[in-house]
Amino acid sequence: MHKVLILGGTAEAVDLATRLDGDKRIHPITSFAGRTKAPRAVPGGLRVGGFGGADGFASYLASEEIFAVIDATHPFAAQISVHAAEACANATCPSARLERLPWEAHQDDDWHEVATVEAAAERIPSGSRIFVTTGRQELAPFFARDDIWMLVRVIDPLDEPILPERGIAIAARGPFSTESEIELMRDHGIEWLVSKNSGGASSYGKIEAARELGLPVIMVRPPTAAQCESVFRSVDEVCGWLEGLLP
Ligand code: NAP
Repeated sequence: MHKVLILGGTAEAVDLATRLDGDKRIHPITSFAGRTKAPRAVPGGLRVGGFGGADGFASYLASEEIFAVIDATHPFAAQISVHAAEACANATCPSARLERLPWEAHQDDDWHEVATVEAAAERIPSGSRIFVTTGRQELAPFFARDDIWMLVRVIDPLDEPILPERGIAIAARGPFSTESEIELMRDHGIEWLVSKNSGGASSYGKIEAARELGLPVIMVRPPTAAQCESVFRSVDEVCGWLEGLLP
Protein backbone atom coordinates (compact mmCIF):
# COMPACT_ATOMS: atom_id res chain seq x y z
CA MET A 1 0.00 0.00 0.00
CA HIS A 2 1.29 3.47 -0.90
CA LYS A 3 0.70 6.04 1.81
CA VAL A 4 -0.63 9.33 0.47
CA LEU A 5 -0.75 12.25 2.89
CA ILE A 6 -3.65 14.65 2.31
CA LEU A 7 -3.42 18.02 4.04
CA GLY A 8 -7.06 18.64 4.81
CA GLY A 9 -9.52 21.12 6.26
CA THR A 10 -11.70 21.46 3.16
CA ALA A 11 -14.66 19.61 1.62
CA GLU A 12 -12.44 18.82 -1.39
CA ALA A 13 -9.92 17.05 0.87
CA VAL A 14 -12.69 14.79 2.18
CA ASP A 15 -13.80 14.03 -1.40
CA LEU A 16 -10.21 13.15 -2.30
CA ALA A 17 -9.75 10.87 0.74
CA THR A 18 -13.00 9.12 -0.17
CA ARG A 19 -11.79 8.52 -3.73
CA LEU A 20 -8.31 7.32 -2.72
CA ASP A 21 -9.65 5.07 0.05
CA GLY A 22 -11.48 3.13 -2.65
CA ASP A 23 -8.17 2.27 -4.38
CA LYS A 24 -6.58 -0.93 -3.02
CA ARG A 25 -3.08 0.34 -3.85
CA ILE A 26 -3.38 3.47 -1.73
CA HIS A 27 -3.73 4.25 1.97
CA PRO A 28 -4.82 7.90 2.31
CA ILE A 29 -3.95 9.68 5.58
CA THR A 30 -5.70 13.02 6.16
CA SER A 31 -4.02 15.61 8.34
CA PHE A 32 -6.08 18.27 10.14
CA ALA A 33 -4.70 21.31 11.93
CA GLY A 34 -7.06 20.59 14.81
CA ARG A 35 -8.95 23.90 14.58
CA THR A 36 -12.36 22.35 15.30
CA LYS A 37 -13.37 20.22 18.29
CA ALA A 38 -15.07 17.52 16.23
CA PRO A 39 -13.41 17.27 12.82
CA ARG A 40 -15.35 15.91 9.86
CA ALA A 41 -15.22 12.12 9.48
CA VAL A 42 -12.85 11.04 6.69
CA PRO A 43 -12.22 7.60 5.18
CA GLY A 44 -8.69 6.22 5.62
CA GLY A 45 -6.17 7.31 8.25
CA LEU A 46 -6.34 10.52 10.27
CA ARG A 47 -3.79 12.58 12.16
CA VAL A 48 -4.47 15.86 13.95
CA GLY A 49 -2.19 18.80 14.89
CA GLY A 50 0.87 20.64 13.58
CA PHE A 51 3.96 18.79 12.41
CA GLY A 52 6.42 21.26 13.95
CA GLY A 53 7.31 23.41 10.93
CA ALA A 54 9.00 22.28 7.71
CA ASP A 55 11.56 20.20 9.64
CA GLY A 56 8.85 18.37 11.56
CA PHE A 57 7.00 17.82 8.30
CA ALA A 58 10.13 16.33 6.72
CA SER A 59 10.60 13.99 9.70
CA TYR A 60 6.98 12.84 9.37
CA LEU A 61 7.45 12.10 5.63
CA ALA A 62 10.49 9.95 6.41
CA SER A 63 9.17 8.12 9.48
CA GLU A 64 5.80 7.32 7.86
CA GLU A 65 7.35 6.51 4.47
CA ILE A 66 4.91 8.80 2.66
CA PHE A 67 4.72 8.10 -1.07
CA ALA A 68 3.14 11.42 -2.10
CA VAL A 69 1.58 14.53 -0.54
CA ILE A 70 -1.52 16.35 -1.69
CA ASP A 71 -2.06 19.79 -0.24
CA ALA A 72 -5.83 20.28 -0.21
CA THR A 73 -5.85 22.93 2.53
CA HIS A 74 -8.00 26.03 2.74
CA PRO A 75 -6.72 28.87 0.50
CA PHE A 76 -6.12 31.03 3.60
CA ALA A 77 -4.05 28.35 5.37
CA ALA A 78 -0.86 29.61 3.73
CA GLN A 79 1.72 28.56 6.32
CA ILE A 80 1.22 24.81 6.15
CA SER A 81 1.40 24.92 2.34
CA VAL A 82 4.79 26.66 2.45
CA HIS A 83 6.12 24.12 4.98
CA ALA A 84 4.82 21.18 2.95
CA ALA A 85 6.25 22.50 -0.33
CA GLU A 86 9.67 23.05 1.25
CA ALA A 87 9.79 19.67 3.01
CA CYS A 88 8.60 17.76 -0.08
CA ALA A 89 11.14 19.49 -2.33
CA ASN A 90 13.99 18.62 0.07
CA ALA A 91 12.82 15.02 0.46
CA THR A 92 12.07 14.64 -3.27
CA CYS A 93 8.61 13.45 -2.26
CA PRO A 94 6.08 14.05 -5.08
CA SER A 95 3.58 16.72 -4.09
CA ALA A 96 0.60 18.41 -5.66
CA ARG A 97 -1.87 21.07 -4.66
CA LEU A 98 -5.63 20.76 -5.04
CA GLU A 99 -6.62 24.39 -5.26
CA ARG A 100 -9.95 26.15 -5.57
CA LEU A 101 -10.32 29.17 -7.79
CA PRO A 102 -11.44 32.23 -5.84
CA TRP A 103 -14.97 33.48 -6.50
CA GLU A 104 -15.39 36.22 -9.05
CA ALA A 105 -17.77 39.13 -8.57
CA HIS A 106 -21.01 38.83 -10.54
CA GLN A 107 -22.35 41.97 -12.21
CA ASP A 108 -25.01 42.31 -9.51
CA ASP A 109 -22.52 41.93 -6.65
CA ASP A 110 -21.34 44.91 -4.62
CA TRP A 111 -17.94 43.78 -3.37
CA HIS A 112 -15.45 45.90 -1.47
CA GLU A 113 -12.18 43.96 -1.71
CA VAL A 114 -9.51 44.24 0.98
CA ALA A 115 -6.19 42.49 1.57
CA THR A 116 -6.54 41.51 5.22
CA VAL A 117 -9.10 40.80 7.91
CA GLU A 118 -7.85 43.90 9.77
CA ALA A 119 -8.59 46.03 6.70
CA ALA A 120 -12.04 44.40 6.49
CA ALA A 121 -12.83 45.46 10.05
CA GLU A 122 -11.69 49.02 9.33
CA ARG A 123 -13.87 49.19 6.20
CA ILE A 124 -17.18 48.63 8.05
CA PRO A 125 -19.20 51.84 8.28
CA SER A 126 -19.93 52.99 11.83
CA GLY A 127 -23.36 51.95 13.10
CA SER A 128 -23.72 48.99 10.68
CA ARG A 129 -25.14 45.55 11.39
CA ILE A 130 -22.66 43.05 9.95
CA PHE A 131 -22.43 39.30 9.39
CA VAL A 132 -18.86 38.07 10.01
CA THR A 133 -17.88 34.70 8.50
CA THR A 134 -14.08 34.94 8.55
CA GLY A 135 -13.48 32.27 11.21
CA ARG A 136 -12.80 32.27 14.95
CA GLN A 137 -9.04 32.85 14.71
CA GLU A 138 -9.41 36.38 13.41
CA LEU A 139 -12.32 37.94 15.27
CA ALA A 140 -10.30 40.41 17.38
CA PRO A 141 -10.35 43.26 14.81
CA PHE A 142 -14.17 43.07 14.71
CA PHE A 143 -14.52 42.90 18.50
CA ALA A 144 -12.34 46.02 18.67
CA ARG A 145 -15.10 47.94 16.85
CA ASP A 146 -17.58 49.01 19.53
CA ASP A 147 -19.62 51.08 17.04
CA ILE A 148 -21.06 48.15 15.04
CA TRP A 149 -23.45 45.25 15.74
CA MET A 150 -22.26 41.83 14.59
CA LEU A 151 -23.63 38.40 13.84
CA VAL A 152 -20.64 36.05 14.08
CA ARG A 153 -20.75 32.49 12.73
CA VAL A 154 -18.15 29.98 13.89
CA ILE A 155 -17.99 26.17 13.85
CA ASP A 156 -17.45 25.66 17.60
CA PRO A 157 -19.11 27.97 20.17
CA LEU A 158 -17.00 30.95 21.27
CA ASP A 159 -15.37 30.65 24.71
CA GLU A 160 -16.81 34.04 25.74
CA PRO A 161 -20.32 35.07 24.67
CA ILE A 162 -20.71 38.43 22.92
CA LEU A 163 -22.52 41.13 24.94
CA PRO A 164 -26.10 41.26 23.58
CA GLU A 165 -25.80 44.95 22.71
CA ARG A 166 -22.63 44.17 20.66
CA GLY A 167 -23.99 41.22 18.69
CA ILE A 168 -24.61 37.49 18.72
CA ALA A 169 -22.54 34.39 17.90
CA ILE A 170 -23.94 31.24 16.34
CA ALA A 171 -22.10 27.92 16.04
CA ALA A 172 -22.82 25.95 12.88
CA ARG A 173 -20.94 23.98 10.23
CA GLY A 174 -21.77 24.43 6.55
CA PRO A 175 -22.66 23.96 3.81
CA PHE A 176 -25.53 26.45 4.06
CA SER A 177 -28.14 26.92 1.35
CA THR A 178 -28.73 30.31 -0.24
CA GLU A 179 -32.29 30.25 1.12
CA SER A 180 -31.19 29.67 4.72
CA GLU A 181 -28.52 32.39 4.40
CA ILE A 182 -31.14 34.86 3.11
CA GLU A 183 -33.39 34.01 6.05
CA LEU A 184 -30.55 34.37 8.57
CA MET A 185 -29.45 37.74 7.21
CA ARG A 186 -33.03 39.01 7.06
CA ASP A 187 -33.80 37.83 10.61
CA HIS A 188 -30.83 39.77 11.98
CA GLY A 189 -31.30 42.89 9.84
CA ILE A 190 -27.83 42.46 8.33
CA GLU A 191 -26.54 45.38 6.25
CA TRP A 192 -23.00 44.15 5.34
CA LEU A 193 -21.48 40.68 4.88
CA VAL A 194 -17.78 40.13 5.68
CA SER A 195 -16.25 37.09 3.96
CA LYS A 196 -12.92 35.65 2.92
CA ASN A 197 -12.73 34.88 -0.79
CA SER A 198 -12.32 31.15 -0.15
CA GLY A 199 -13.83 29.94 -3.43
CA GLY A 200 -15.64 26.61 -3.72
CA ALA A 201 -19.30 25.67 -3.59
CA SER A 202 -19.82 24.83 0.08
CA SER A 203 -19.79 28.41 1.40
CA TYR A 204 -21.06 30.23 -1.70
CA GLY A 205 -24.64 30.41 -0.39
CA LYS A 206 -23.92 33.56 1.66
CA ILE A 207 -22.49 35.30 -1.43
CA GLU A 208 -25.62 34.49 -3.44
CA ALA A 209 -27.77 35.56 -0.48
CA ALA A 210 -26.02 38.95 -0.28
CA ARG A 211 -26.60 39.37 -4.03
CA GLU A 212 -30.29 38.50 -3.70
CA LEU A 213 -30.71 40.93 -0.80
CA GLY A 214 -28.67 43.67 -2.51
CA LEU A 215 -26.19 43.77 0.38
CA PRO A 216 -22.57 44.96 0.08
CA VAL A 217 -19.82 42.43 0.82
CA ILE A 218 -16.41 43.19 2.31
CA MET A 219 -14.34 40.50 0.62
CA VAL A 220 -10.88 39.54 1.88
CA ARG A 221 -8.62 38.56 -1.02
CA PRO A 222 -6.83 35.19 -0.67
CA PRO A 223 -3.09 35.19 0.09
CA THR A 224 -0.64 34.23 -2.65
CA ALA A 225 -0.56 30.44 -2.92
CA ALA A 226 2.64 28.53 -2.10
CA GLN A 227 4.76 27.54 -5.10
CA CYS A 228 3.95 24.02 -6.25
CA GLU A 229 4.84 22.39 -9.57
CA SER A 230 1.60 20.43 -9.86
CA VAL A 231 -1.57 22.44 -9.22
CA PHE A 232 -4.96 20.89 -9.91
CA ARG A 233 -8.54 22.12 -9.75
CA SER A 234 -10.37 18.83 -9.29
CA VAL A 235 -10.16 15.48 -7.50
CA ASP A 236 -10.19 13.77 -10.93
CA GLU A 237 -7.08 15.66 -12.01
CA VAL A 238 -5.24 14.80 -8.79
CA CYS A 239 -6.15 11.12 -9.19
CA GLY A 240 -4.82 11.19 -12.77
CA TRP A 241 -1.52 12.69 -11.52
CA LEU A 242 -1.22 10.00 -8.81
CA GLU A 243 -1.97 7.25 -11.32
CA GLY A 244 1.05 8.38 -13.30
CA LEU A 245 3.27 8.02 -10.22
CA LEU A 246 2.14 4.58 -9.10
CA PRO A 247 4.30 1.65 -10.24
P1 NAP B 1 -1.82 27.96 8.62
O1 NAP B 1 -1.60 29.37 8.97
O2 NAP B 1 -1.46 27.51 7.26
O3 NAP B 1 -1.08 26.98 9.61
C1 NAP B 1 -0.54 27.32 10.87
C2 NAP B 1 0.05 26.06 11.42
O4 NAP B 1 -0.99 25.13 11.73
C3 NAP B 1 0.96 25.32 10.44
O5 NAP B 1 2.26 25.87 10.43
C4 NAP B 1 0.87 23.90 10.96
O6 NAP B 1 1.65 23.75 12.13
C5 NAP B 1 -0.58 23.81 11.39
N1 NAP B 1 -1.46 23.29 10.33
C6 NAP B 1 -2.23 23.97 9.46
N2 NAP B 1 -2.92 23.14 8.67
C7 NAP B 1 -2.55 21.90 9.03
C8 NAP B 1 -2.92 20.60 8.58
N3 NAP B 1 -3.83 20.40 7.59
N4 NAP B 1 -2.35 19.53 9.20
C9 NAP B 1 -1.45 19.69 10.20
N5 NAP B 1 -1.07 20.91 10.67
C10 NAP B 1 -1.62 21.98 10.08
O7 NAP B 1 -3.35 27.55 8.85
P2 NAP B 1 -4.38 27.87 10.04
O8 NAP B 1 -3.66 28.56 11.18
O9 NAP B 1 -5.15 26.66 10.35
O10 NAP B 1 -5.39 28.87 9.37
C11 NAP B 1 -5.01 30.04 8.68
C12 NAP B 1 -6.22 30.60 7.98
O11 NAP B 1 -6.87 29.57 7.21
C13 NAP B 1 -7.27 31.16 8.89
O12 NAP B 1 -7.72 32.32 8.26
C14 NAP B 1 -8.36 30.11 8.91
O13 NAP B 1 -9.64 30.69 9.09
C15 NAP B 1 -8.25 29.52 7.53
N6 NAP B 1 -8.78 28.15 7.52
C16 NAP B 1 -8.01 27.09 7.94
C17 NAP B 1 -8.55 25.82 7.94
C18 NAP B 1 -7.73 24.62 8.40
O14 NAP B 1 -8.27 23.49 8.38
N7 NAP B 1 -6.47 24.77 8.84
C19 NAP B 1 -9.87 25.62 7.48
C20 NAP B 1 -10.60 26.70 7.07
C21 NAP B 1 -10.05 27.97 7.10
P3 NAP B 1 3.16 23.21 12.10
O15 NAP B 1 4.00 24.32 11.58
O16 NAP B 1 3.43 22.87 13.54
O17 NAP B 1 3.19 22.00 11.20
